[in-house]
Formats: sequence, C-alpha cells, structure tokens
Amino acid sequence: MSVTGLPPYDPQNIFARILRGEIPCKRVHEDGFALAFHDINPQAPVHVLVIPKGAYVSAVDFGATASDAEIAGFWRAVAATAKALGLEEGGYRILSNIGPDGGQEVPHFHVHIFGGKRLGRMVAKEAAP
Ligand code: AMP
Repeated sequence: MSVTGLPPYDPQNIFARILRGEIPCKRVHEDGFALAFHDINPQAPVHVLVIPKGAYVSAVDFGATASDAEIAGFWRAVAATAKALGLEEGGYRILSNIGPDGGQEVPHFHVHIFGGKRLGRMVAKEAAP
C-alpha cells in the first residue's frame, strides 16, 4: 500500500541499490531486518539512516503491509543503531519524511537518526505557519 500521492515501490531507488550492494555505504549496523548507514549529506554531527530490508515506500506502507516480525525487528534495529553510535545517554531525534510535503526524496522507507548536539526546534521557524 502506498500513501496517496506516492508512487509504487521503485526497485531502482538508491536505497534499494545500497541494499543490493550496488552502491557503497558507511555501515553502522546490519541485521536480518534493517541496514543503518551514515547519511551522505549530514544535517547534524551524527546523521544516520535506518532502512528496512523489505521493499516499502514509506512509514505508512511499512506499518500497513510489513509483518509483525519486520516491524519489531526494524524498531529494534533503530535502537541498536543509536546505541552503537553512543547516543543513548545524551538522547537523539528520529524522523521519517513521507511524500512531497514531508520532503521525502528517496521512496524507500527510512528513519533519520540525528544526534551529537542539542538539536533545537523540531521544525524550522520558517516552516511553521
Ligand atoms: P529523505 O528526504 O527523508 O527522503 O532523505 C533522504 C536522505 O538520503 C537525504 O538525507 C540524503 O542526504 C540521503 N542520501 C541520498 N543518497 C544517499 C547515499 N547514497 N548514501 C547515503 N545517504 C544518501
């Protein structure tokens, strides 16, 4: 299932290619459910992406169609990644963009992990109404 306005899953998207090993990544964590790697254009001192191994366009698609084991495994991988990055003590932010208004660029569900400093407001002031 896709969110209205989102395309069907494109197996040529860049994260699918990373999962297939066609494009390199700076890996932080990997298990049977997820792969975590450093964002190529970091927006914080620590900026890592966690992606499920299955083909899901967005968080909504993932929640609606992934198995219970995939969903549990994915969120455990997010926590394991933050722990591996040493973010547990100071805290961090997780974020997932969905569709055009959310600013989603890559149509394979992913969670951003940001950390390494006080991150401030959730949404930039200029983005507020
Ligand atoms: P989003 O806007 O939520 O879809 O985020 C996509 C993210 O993927 C952006 O933060 C990009 O910097 C990041 N990105 C794109 N290509 C790569 C890549 N080859 N390796 C790592 N991160 C990437």
